[in-house]
Amino acid sequence: MPATAPKETLVVGSGAAGLTVALLLAKAGRRVTLLETQSGIGGYLRRFTRNGLRFDTGFHFTGGFGDTLSQILTILGLENDIKAEPLRSRIYLQETGRMLTLPGGSLEERAEYLAAVFPEDASAIRNYFQLEQDIVASTPLFDLSNADQPIAPQLSLYDSITLQEYFQQQRFSSPGVETVLGMMVFCHGTPPSEIPLAQHCRISCGLHQHLSRVEHGGDAFIRAFKRELERYQVKTRTGTSIAKMLRFSSDCQCQEVLLSNAETLAVEDIFFAVHPEVYLQLFPAEMLSPSLRRRYGKSQDTCSFFSIYAALDDELAAEPELLQYISCNDLNRLLSPGDSAYGTGMVTNLETDHRGRVRKTFTAFRNMHLSEVTAQCGPELGSYSSNPRYLEFKRRISEQVYQDVLKVYPHYDRHLHILASATPYTCRRYSPPRGSAYGLKIKIAESRLSGQLPVRNCYALGHHAIMPGILGTMLGAFLTFRQAVGAEAYRALIRQAL
Ligand SMILES: Cc1cc2nc3c(=O)[nH]c(=O)nc-3n(C[C@H](O)[C@H](O)[C@H](O)COP(=O)(O)OP(=O)(O)OC[C@H]3O[C@@H](n4cnc5c(N)ncnc54)[C@H](O)[C@@H]3O)c2cc1C
Repeated sequence: MPATAPKETLVVGSGAAGLTVALLLAKAGRRVTLLETQSGIGGYLRRFTRNGLRFDTGFHFTGGFGDTLSQILTILGLENDIKAEPLRSRIYLQETGRMLTLPGGSLEERAEYLAAVFPEDASAIRNYFQLEQDIVASTPLFDLSNADQPIAPQLSLYDSITLQEYFQQQRFSSPGVETVLGMMVFCHGTPPSEIPLAQHCRISCGLHQHLSRVEHGGDAFIRAFKRELERYQVKTRTGTSIAKMLRFSSDCQCQEVLLSNAETLAVEDIFFAVHPEVYLQLFPAEMLSPSLRRRYGKSQDTCSFFSIYAALDDELAAEPELLQYISCNDLNRLLSPGDSAYGTGMVTNLETDHRGRVRKTFTAFRNMHLSEVTAQCGPELGSYSSNPRYLEFKRRISEQVYQDVLKVYPHYDRHLHILASATPYTCRRYSPPRGSAYGLKIKIAESRLSGQLPVRNCYALGHHAIMPGILGTMLGAFLTFRQAVGAEAYRALIRQAL
């Protein structure tokens, strides 16, 4: 490599976080190379095709339209590509056989609906929704137009108690109230006994306000990102990762890396939008402080999902909606590995294909940990697609999920055709090493591995960092970008867009 080779800013991992930060950096004038181990970009945004139908893997709905997500899309130049469509939301509580149809619109409407369903707990329900709004209003990082905001959530009193402690203080009298209010634990994967109340509220509020699906799901994002990345001359290398960090400056900056394709690159900064294991293994041992090792050593991955993907017959009456099927009212049990309790998200989707025909699909995803697959099928699955224990496991769980579907959608019987299923093992392909749905758990009193790292020109982002989900990872990418380029460059970029 010539001594004067221009320096590249590397982005490792091309999920929602990596794509966002790569585009921001390129817009800010950096020479950007995006590295992705898989054959295509997108991570959990990637879709697949069965019988001519497109299915999402790790992106079925989001919140935040009208607020932060709309700002993000505008700044990135994707606002005309991503079309939000409101999604009806229902909850089925199996223990009591109760079905709740939640009103869309404002948090107040939702609070009033639930207050009417659970009159003994009406005032506690109203207080909870008010608290969600107050916490979000006092979280400045949701306002991306302000370059002077802090780049991490300012901790409040509510960051020091868990969601469960808060629920215990409320002494709800009706069974199911905690379950319904805490339902969005399925959108971050940390049980009520571990998640700080404030973080739970920050993630839930947008979903309660603007639950939406995106027309053409992950395809819409990937298509739009590809166009913009090309426009800003981002070089994308699929099937490639960093094999080794080669040279360091005296102030702990990485200056050169060796790629898995044997190429060497001079480096300006590196943004790791991947699991922390990836960069912690690349960093020289002497640069990892004992406290960082301890912090990472204590962290745990969230659950993943077992999913079935199905076609619905054209003539079947079906509306787009999210139905959350909850087998037991105890949310801690629901998220514990190995427990028989579970929650299943069921999404009915209507999508117009390129011939103008409306196609109906159905996806159900039941929470599950990778350890539950290996406990049933053996630790080393090898070529899992032909492993008989694994195939039998998939068949058995698919049948269980299907039976649950028929309990809440009896009219889908004989009109729903399962085309594929996926386990946490499959998710590993999209998000190695353990295919967790939301990265690392957000545990009380534990700081996140986010932003600048001990190798000082390296930064951590992605769903392991500030917040999970598509919105959380994109927001985190903005904050990490601002930390790296500084407030002035950030302000210049924002000024052009907003
Ligand atoms: C079944 C399921 C359903 C979900 N549903 C929703 C939903 O409806 N709404 C929502 O908001 N969120 C949902 N999520 C969560 C959401 O998908 C994630 O939180 C989010 O997409 C994570 O984005 P990311 O960029 O951090 O990581 P990922 O999307 O995991 O991307 C990481 C990328 O890095 C690549 N990579 C890994 N290691 C390396 C390496 N060494 N070198 C180079 N590249 C590497 C991977 O191949 C991958 O492409 C769901 C998740 C699952 C599993």
